[in-house]
Amino acid sequence: MDEMSRKILFPRAAIQKRVQELGGQISGDYAGRELVVIGILKGAFIFMADLIREISIPCNIDFVRVASYGASSENSGKVVMTKDIETSIKGRDILIVEDIVDTGLTLQYLVGWLKERNPHSLKICVFLDKRKRRKVSFEADYVGFTIDDGFVVGYGLDFNEQYRFFPDVYVIKQ
Ligand code: 5GP
Repeated sequence: MDEMSRKILFPRAAIQKRVQELGGQISGDYAGRELVVIGILKGAFIFMADLIREISIPCNIDFVRVASYGASSENSGKVVMTKDIETSIKGRDILIVEDIVDTGLTLQYLVGWLKERNPHSLKICVFLDKRKRRKVSFEADYVGFTIDDGFVVGYGLDFNEQYRFFPDVYVIKQ
């Protein structure tokens, strides 16, 4: 991808500042408690790594992996879990960490899946929120940035498994 086909949306300094703010907010909200932070692979791995280092309360971490069927930029609505958590979450405070919420279908499915295990509480932190494209009503508890439509890459987010390693976030020009 050359320079002409992408446009910078969030430079790394802005991301770092926002992640610090989120970490501070989460630490305050859960003061005196302990969190199980569950990241959704693969996209959330970089955001989650930065976020947990800005959280000052004890955290356990785990991961899930889900597959959604359809083209890479259009979610068809069929979501399937391909890797479950390995931690017991019954009675515990859970924070799901996701790279981006778009239609809301992935997180709706995952929240249902995890709630069946009776956690004490369950909140969601997303790095990016494409609020206008929701197919199901869904609100994240913590949002890094709200964005308009457009396909974004970098900071863990891919396009056909490429560009996850970009430290900044770009929107691909259509
Ligand atoms: P949802 O189920 O909310 O429609 O979709 C969430 C998933 O769609 C994200 O975890 C991500 O994999 C993918 N996705 C949605 N929009 C984008 C985007 O702009 N860029 C990238 N790289 N993935 C996206």
